[in-house]
Amino acid sequence: AGKVEFRDVHFSYDPNRKILKGVSFEVPAGKTVAIVGPSGAGKSTISRLLFRFYDVQGGQVLIDGQDVRDVTQDSLRAVLGMVPQDTVLFNDTIAYNIRYGRVGASEEEVRKAAELAQIGPFIEKLPEGYKSMVGERGLKLSGGEKQRVAIARTILKAPPILMLDEATSALDSHTEQEIQAALDLVSKGRTTIVIAHRLSTVISADEIIVLKDGQIAERGTHVELMRKH
Ligand code: ADP
Ligand code: ADP
Repeated sequence: AGKVEFRDVHFSYDPNRKILKGVSFEVPAGKTVAIVGPSGAGKSTISRLLFRFYDVQGGQVLIDGQDVRDVTQDSLRAVLGMVPQDTVLFNDTIAYNIRYGRVGASEEEVRKAAELAQIGPFIEKLPEGYKSMVGERGLKLSGGEKQRVAIARTILKAPPILMLDEATSALDSHTEQEIQAALDLVSKGRTTIVIAHRLSTVISADEIIVLKDGQIAERGTHVELMRKH
């Protein structure tokens, strides 16, 4: 289970400016589709429509053949996972922030997820902004470290469908490679949609969709797209 389909999707935030103009694609269960394209092309809008932060104004978004408008928020949240560009952490330990991915996970499972995401040494720490009654202050995490917390949370949640929005953008290239390996681990066998700026970061996707000005300009595997240019 976990097939995602966009069928002739139309969307605009503002009636005078169309953002998606008939976008259709399918992500078979367990496969990875990458959406690339310039800033402003409408990539994150696709993610917002899948999560139903907004509803389509034409066409349909389907999960396993069911229109997302007919699915409850709770079931939608249960099947979808997200590693966002910017992760906002709760005012509690990193372990708590990771466990949020699957409340009820054991300490061992939380530690394992933290290790895979390479945030293991931090799990007992509190994030910046935290100030306890005894005056203890939180730890300042870099953007990349926060992203690793989000990755650990997602590893723990193990959702059937995973949305990665420029998931490794805040990381330096060495860390990016290590995290990419952790993400590959979590996306293996799951339906995955990756939103990326550069073709070079999505070489292994089963299909790459190039979005330009709200429409699919090109599609194919990395090899096929490279041959054309
Ligand atoms: P991308 O992810 O490809 O950079 P987005 O999907 O975030 O693009 O945005 C597509 C266009 O929609 C952009 O021009 C952006 O400014 C506009 N946009 C995004 N969010 C909103 C919003 N909430 N209200 C109005 N316009 C928006
Ligand atoms: P949960 O693990 O609580 O079910 P999700 O996996 O749906 O939450 O999302 C994780 C975090 O990413 C949440 O804080 C959610 O608000 C945020 N998020 C989810 N989808 C998007 C999106 N399309 N754009 C930006 N942030 C998102």
